[in-house]
Amino acid sequence: KKQQLKGIINFKPVTQDGKEMELSANISSLKELDVALSSGANGVGLFRTEFLYMDRSRLPREEEQFEVYRNVAEKLGQKPLIIRTLDIGGDKQLDYFELPEEDNPFLGYRAIRICLDKTDLFKTQLRAILRAGHYGNVKIMYPLISSVEEVRAANGLLQACKDELRAEGVPYAEDMKAGIMIELPAAVLIADMLAEEVDFFSIGTNDLIQFTLAVDRMNEQISHLYEPYHPSVLRMIKLTVEAAKRQGIHVGVCGEMAGDIKALPIWLALDVDELSMSSHSLLPVKERLLSLRQQESRDLFERLMRCKTSAEIHEIVKLKTADEQ
Ligand code: PEP
Ligand code: MG
Repeated sequence: KKQQLKGIINFKPVTQDGKEMELSANISSLKELDVALSSGANGVGLFRTEFLYMDRSRLPREEEQFEVYRNVAEKLGQKPLIIRTLDIGGDKQLDYFELPEEDNPFLGYRAIRICLDKTDLFKTQLRAILRAGHYGNVKIMYPLISSVEEVRAANGLLQACKDELRAEGVPYAEDMKAGIMIELPAAVLIADMLAEEVDFFSIGTNDLIQFTLAVDRMNEQISHLYEPYHPSVLRMIKLTVEAAKRQGIHVGVCGEMAGDIKALPIWLALDVDELSMSSHSLLPVKERLLSLRQQESRDLFERLMRCKTSAEIHEIVKLKTADEQ
């Protein structure tokens, strides 16, 4: 089976009726990029930068970050690289960075909230990313966005960094595209407004499911309630993609659901542009993509949207066994 999948590495990711889908990788280090590229990734749809901050005893300096981002960007050449700004807090802590004790860390001081508060820390990263953009096809993405104000504040700091770099004569990417993760229900409900402020969306289904259902994604006692195929989650996804499409911006998915082959007809039906996933999912997803039709996916999705329970949805998306086919 593995051998058979290897055979499709260089195949164009396209359905039977011609819908192309960018299949990209989620990575968190330069090392993981090799696996991604050898699995046929179109690019990197999510570079989680947390590891750069977690693997050490102090904050990484601009030069250190720049080296890592530039190496990844150069290795990808013209293939796109989306670098996500620091997403710590919640379950991800830094030993050397005192975060307050919180009753609800997932709802607390984390991600873009820290970055917009500790602007020196944020600007160091923004500068490193902008500089790396000179050496490849780099885009920047902000996590955990809940409002237009946050986007404007982050983009304002990005602009300030560009002005500084220009004044210093340091090369950087002037036209770097900036996008956001859609992973909070608040962001979904104002997706039309957010779409006017950014160049792209990437749906973070991991957090979107957690926050839509109010189910802690780390809590095993309630893991049976963590349900990607909940009707509310499908509605969230639909609202987001439709808002992006109306505004004409690029829309991808980078949570675990992107790598779940059962979910593929959903993305095809909505005409999502990109799926970014763990490298090991790339070939299985591509294999199924090659066998599907977008039109049939649309019909299937209409049925899904009428389902009132997750059980009904599962019944429709489940993969047929060999003898049912
Ligand atoms: C997500 O929330 O879906 C996501 C991709 O980001 P992370 O898993 O790093 O929170
Ligand atoms: Mg997330």
